[in-house]
Amino acid sequence: MTNVLTELVDALTRGAVNVVDLTQPLGPATPVIGLPPIFAASPGVTIDVISRYDERGPAWYWNTLRLGEHTGTHFDAPIHWVTGRDLPGNACDTIPVRRFVGPACVIDVTADVAANADFLLTTGRIEAWEREHGPIPSGAWVLLRTGWSRRTDAAAFLNVAADGPHSPGFDVRASRLLAHDRDVLGVGVETIGTDAGQAASFDPPFPNHTVMHGAGKFGLASLCHLDQLPATGAIVIAAPLKIVQGSGSPVRVIALAPS
Ligand code: MN
Repeated sequence: MTNVLTELVDALTRGAVNVVDLTQPLGPATPVIGLPPIFAASPGVTIDVISRYDERGPAWYWNTLRLGEHTGTHFDAPIHWVTGRDLPGNACDTIPVRRFVGPACVIDVTADVAANADFLLTTGRIEAWEREHGPIPSGAWVLLRTGWSRRTDAAAFLNVAADGPHSPGFDVRASRLLAHDRDVLGVGVETIGTDAGQAASFDPPFPNHTVMHGAGKFGLASLCHLDQLPATGAIVIAAPLKIVQGSGSPVRVIALAPS
């Protein structure tokens, strides 16, 4: 008997479908977002050995992790933002698991970002993408492909100048279009957060977080390998740790993509 799942297994075995890792390595070298100094900061990753086949544990190896929820490739839950704090199913442990799987719409703005690190995705660019690829379906992840993950040096990745960080993001009207009119699952980015580097000074501050999480939508940050995905046709699986009242979580994001 065949069904869509046996066909999927067959496609994976034949190599007709690839599993693409959209996740950055997570370790002490993982860059952490910087905020204006009046705000509390998230720590970097600390990994302490509990035992490693030694007198502390002769046959086993394990570590203690210390890190902020929003570190490395990670998931933003609606409760992360004040606009989403009272929504139902808004935390890592209460989001219905169905919402951890969805189709991907990949919008490639790599050339724009190469010319302007502060590039913002506009409604016009979304509508142009839809004229080429079709409407963004309800329940889709919109992944902003910027090429930013090629910045493997932490200083280049964070790109902080005297006036703060410079990295691409979303115009507030684009966030509203995606959250309210397209009813997406959320947006995913290659940068350290789903708002532009300069977004602390926008009106409202951090507009993408404000709009997305206020609408119960999610975020994925510090993605990579978006260049291995088609504009449409891939499926993203992004399930955060089931942290009780968690605002987010490091996550292994994978995509199923046609080869
Ligand atoms: Mn985050």
